[in-house]
Amino acid sequence: MDLEFTAEDIKFRDEVRGWINENLTEDLKRRLHLSRNHSLDEKNQKAWLKKLADKGWLVPNWPEEYGGPGWTQTQKYIFEMECALAGTPRNSSMGVRMCAPVIMKFGTQEQKDRFLPPIRKSDVWWCQGYSEPGSGSDLASLQMSARRGGDYYICNGSKTWTTYAQWADWIFCLVRTSKEDKKQKGISFLLIDMKSPGITISPIHTLDDGPEGAQEVNQVFFEDVKVPVDQRIGEEGEGWTCAKYLLTFERGAAYAPSCRHAMHRAKKIAALEEVDGRPLSEDPDFAAKIADLEMQIDALDFTERRIFSSLAAGQSVGAMSSLMKTRGSEIGQKITELILEAAGARAFPFVQDPFAHLEDGANEPLPAPEHLISAAGSYFNNRKTSIYAGSNEIQRNIMAQMIMA
Ligand SMILES: Cc1cc2nc3c(=O)[nH]c(=O)nc-3n(C[C@H](O)[C@H](O)[C@H](O)COP(=O)(O)OP(=O)(O)OC[C@H]3O[C@@H](n4cnc5c(N)ncnc54)[C@H](O)[C@@H]3O)c2cc1C
Repeated sequence: MDLEFTAEDIKFRDEVRGWINENLTEDLKRRLHLSRNHSLDEKNQKAWLKKLADKGWLVPNWPEEYGGPGWTQTQKYIFEMECALAGTPRNSSMGVRMCAPVIMKFGTQEQKDRFLPPIRKSDVWWCQGYSEPGSGSDLASLQMSARRGGDYYICNGSKTWTTYAQWADWIFCLVRTSKEDKKQKGISFLLIDMKSPGITISPIHTLDDGPEGAQEVNQVFFEDVKVPVDQRIGEEGEGWTCAKYLLTFERGAAYAPSCRHAMHRAKKIAALEEVDGRPLSEDPDFAAKIADLEMQIDALDFTERRIFSSLAAGQSVGAMSSLMKTRGSEIGQKITELILEAAGARAFPFVQDPFAHLEDGANEPLPAPEHLISAAGSYFNNRKTSIYAGSNEIQRNIMAQMIMA
């Protein structure tokens, strides 16, 4: 196993770094910094992804035959690391990282030709329709029904916690096509156009809610929605296989780079905040907390490099994705706790739309220093990371069964 970068890797890293420096403008950086979940509004998010797509860098993990850049595992790692260190907007993971691999593995040629190019070009935005009220961890108990009628399915039911459904063009859904066999057997994987008659979206308001229309999560209702049978991926009743395959992509990302970026931010804040006339970063207790977290990030980084190095040698991530997800999310949450501690009472003001203060002509100042404005929002928002993509308790069950047994 070789964890060192070659001269070629370093050249590649410089190219990526240069491109990011040129394209991640000061305005975008400021908007991201003010955002509670490190996301941009719809317009800026889509513009950023389009830039990446035009450069051919939106789909680093795709095989070349589908338009991927043909990078080595190390180059993919470097790319993710550079994006995270620079704090670029998060990639739209739903289409590129989740739905597309399923289409590549289980889709027909027609489905690949129809759905993959628009994802690669960032012409369409996808959302994920897995969870339902009452079916989260126990996903196989899902109830949304798809009744076959000729060339169509008629879908009824609802999906919940659907991230950015209001911005999505399409949704990939797990639906129940049969109740007769064991529950995993009667599930199918459908691609549904969000403009289909019978779909309504209801926002779910959260503690850190953004401005009207920019909510992060939603409930999506389906009432007699007609879905052509040729939008089913894989065989009828075989959707559970697609669902499990997709989940390894949802969980198997590198977390260390984004933790480093967040830690860099925490250290900057600690240097700006004062206690008894001295920077907080010089307080021995606080400095020890920073050092502790930095060591945890180093350990995570080495674990992730080891996993990606074995991927390069042809092995699969398997249950190791659960390990990355658990440690990555826990460390990420601890960093937001540290930032909240650094901000103290100055984290109190709630600003629903910090971007409004950046608009031309805006004359209302922010009610707290700019470097602290998202401290509380990020803290609250980050509680989600140990819940979504399969809660950390569920990940621990998987590790116990598949790694330690
Ligand atoms: C911000 C956010 C965004 C999300 N986005 C999406 C999305 O875009 N699309 C989508 O489909 N879903 C999405 N989800 C849903 C997410 O996948 C579920 O919330 C998650 O799977 C947990 O399910 P649940 O909320 O029903 O909790 P439950 O399954 O009811 O779990 C409640 C608690 O019990 C624990 N628990 C449950 N079963 C076990 C067990 N067997 N062993 C030990 N502990 C257990 C859980 O860990 C948790 O602490 C999102 C969730 C959040 C919070």
